[in-house]
Amino acid sequence: MSPGEYETYHAMIAATREVFADQLDVRAGLESDYFPGVEPWLEELHAKVPLNHVLGSVHPQVPEYQDAYFNGDAFAFQQTYFDHLAQAAETGLFDTLAHPDLVKNLFPEHWRFDLIEPYVAQALDRIAATGVAMELNTSGRQKTIPEMNPSPSMLRMMHERGIPVVLGADAHVPRRVAEGYSDALETLRQVGFTEISYFLNRERQTVPLEDALNSLT
Ligand SMILES: [Zn+2]
Repeated sequence: MSPGEYETYHAMIAATREVFADQLDVRAGLESDYFPGVEPWLEELHAKVPLNHVLGSVHPQVPEYQDAYFNGDAFAFQQTYFDHLAQAAETGLFDTLAHPDLVKNLFPEHWRFDLIEPYVAQALDRIAATGVAMELNTSGRQKTIPEMNPSPSMLRMMHERGIPVVLGADAHVPRRVAEGYSDALETLRQVGFTEISYFLNRERQTVPLEDALNSLT
C-alpha cells in the first residue's frame, strides 16, 4: 500500500464496520516502522484517522535499515536494535513495541542471549520507565530461530520490570489469526504474568490470564 492509499484503506475498514455492525467489532490499528528521524512523519500519520492500537516496530531485515546501521558486526547490530527499541518507546508515539527480539533472526549464528542480555536489560529499564507495552508475537515460531518473539528469557525480564504484554499473531493470512495463543498464554503464566493487555482507543485494557485462556475456543 502506498502512503496515498492510506485514507482509502481506512474508508474500507469503516465500510466493513457498518456491514458487520451487531455481528463483529471491526477495529483499526497500525504497525508503524521506527528508526531514528522518522518521528515527525509518524506523528502526522498516526493523527490522520482514529486508531485503536499503534504498534512500533524496528524491522532489522529491511535493507534500508541494514544500510544505515549494519557495519559488518552482528553483535553491534543487535545492540543498536535494542537501543532503537528503547528509543521507539521513548518517542511516546507507540502503545506497544512489536516482536521485540526480531533481530535474533538476522544473524542467528551470532545470537547469544547470555552476551546480549545486559543490553536487553538496559533497553527494558528504559522501556519500563515509559509505560509502553510489549508484544508477545507467536509468528516467531515460523522464523529462522523458531520461537516466539520475545523468548521466555526476555519475557521473564519484562515481567520483573512490570512491562505489560499484548498478544499478537502477526497473522498476515486469515487462517493464522490467534495462532499459538494457548501456548503463548501458558508461557506467560509460567513466567509469572497474571494478566494480558489490549488497546481500545489507544487506552490500555487488561484481561486476567485465566479469562483469556478460557475465551479460546
Ligand atoms: Zn513487524
